[in-house]
Amino acid sequence: MSASQPNKIPVQQIDLDATKHRVHPRFVKGFYQNIRVVSMYALLAAFLLLPWLRYNGRQALWFDVPSQHYYIFGLTFLTQDFYFIAAFAIIAAFTLFMVTVYAGRVWCGYACPQTIWTHMFQYVEKMVIGDRNKRIKFDKAPMGPKKIAKRLLVYFIWLVFSIITATTFVSYVAGTDYLYHSWQMIGFIPLPDWPTWVWVSVFIFTFATYANAGYMREQMCVQICPYGRFQSVMFDKDTLIVSYDYDRGEPRGPRKKGTNPDDLGDCIECQMCVQVCPTGIDIRDGLQVACIQCAACVDACNEIMDKVGYPRGLIRYTTERQLAEKEPSRVLRPRLFAYLALLTVLCGGVVYALTDRVPLEIDISRDRNQLSSMNAQGMIENSYIVKLTNKTQDAHTYNISLEPQDGLSLQLRFNDVPLAPGESFNMPASVYGDPAVVESGQTPITLNVVSEDGKYQVSKQNVFTTQGQ
Ligand code: SF4
Ligand code: SF4
Repeated sequence: MSASQPNKIPVQQIDLDATKHRVHPRFVKGFYQNIRVVSMYALLAAFLLLPWLRYNGRQALWFDVPSQHYYIFGLTFLTQDFYFIAAFAIIAAFTLFMVTVYAGRVWCGYACPQTIWTHMFQYVEKMVIGDRNKRIKFDKAPMGPKKIAKRLLVYFIWLVFSIITATTFVSYVAGTDYLYHSWQMIGFIPLPDWPTWVWVSVFIFTFATYANAGYMREQMCVQICPYGRFQSVMFDKDTLIVSYDYDRGEPRGPRKKGTNPDDLGDCIECQMCVQVCPTGIDIRDGLQVACIQCAACVDACNEIMDKVGYPRGLIRYTTERQLAEKEPSRVLRPRLFAYLALLTVLCGGVVYALTDRVPLEIDISRDRNQLSSMNAQGMIENSYIVKLTNKTQDAHTYNISLEPQDGLSLQLRFNDVPLAPGESFNMPASVYGDPAVVESGQTPITLNVVSEDGKYQVSKQNVFTTQGQ
């Protein structure tokens, strides 16, 4: 930033109820707002529609926490596969870091759920009450039947949006089939027949949506969201940020009769950039924590510049290097390459692990009560529990066998186990050892499992012991 330009990050007063100093942004049109609207509503549509997508007769994206099975477009993950979820989260975090280094808080302005829902809730106010000036007047007007009716209508629409959001969110966990499978009449109102945990979850998410988008709004970004605070660590001189060109705009002032335009900068002090800001700040004060980089002020100021016949870009996406040091920005820089290299390695690792993964799992646990016992035929017996899990999307029959070894034999209730997609089955198993052949102490054993078509096979080791005799 130039020496003359204020570079303050104002300390906001902590008050999580944004309605006390309600921001009423003017809705603006323009290049960046078109991109925003498309990106926000595409993401919203994806959120609402994804739980209804089916794959192989089942919900395509379903995090079935109660049964600990997670279905992602034909892949089934169990709780043991948690490292995949952790890897996806790490990849998402590093992607966000990389995008932030290049394009600043583009996530906040164009894709963050808090921004999208706040935008929607503010739009409801605009539709019911009117544009910015009418909403400001409405707030100041004394309470009366018309004001109460309009307020109630706004609150009702917010509540409907919140309930739809909450049920959609819960349907990713409970499943759409389960969530809407049966209804009951309470008086004359049809209500879904949900268990308590679903009612509690829907209530919590409804409340959270309503409070976040209806009341906390920009205070969420300013006071609570750690990413907003964290951003300054990730920014460098070449990060794209929405900035006011202080050198070009100042001294600001309206073009009154008698003033010489040559004595003034290009900012005509119309306040339009402040009026459109969803967080109610003035970008001309410099980079601020509350700026979510939505570029509404860019579009608004460009429109003004067009009207007064000045070049666009008094407020624009630029970098500190360009704006303050008057040098070209460096897009390709070591930090970006470092993130890119890390992401390539992480994505490559995940793709390799996914393609190499056998969607069949075997787990063997020993019967802990007894190491071994002698049966009536004089054979040493070791008992185990074999757990098989079919992680494919199809039903399969799996054959279990013991890797051949002198003196050892396997006995199961049945060797062929039919399993439905995603099904797990626990089966007691016994391995018998001939004391005349098997060495005393511990002998490694291997159980092999193979699907009927030979497509999937896994092996698991354990030990046979003669201890306890
Ligand atoms: S919109 Fe542009 S011209 Fe108007 S006050 Fe803001 S910076 Fe100045
Ligand atoms: S200052 Fe501009 S970019 Fe930042 S939040 Fe306000 S309108 Fe959006």
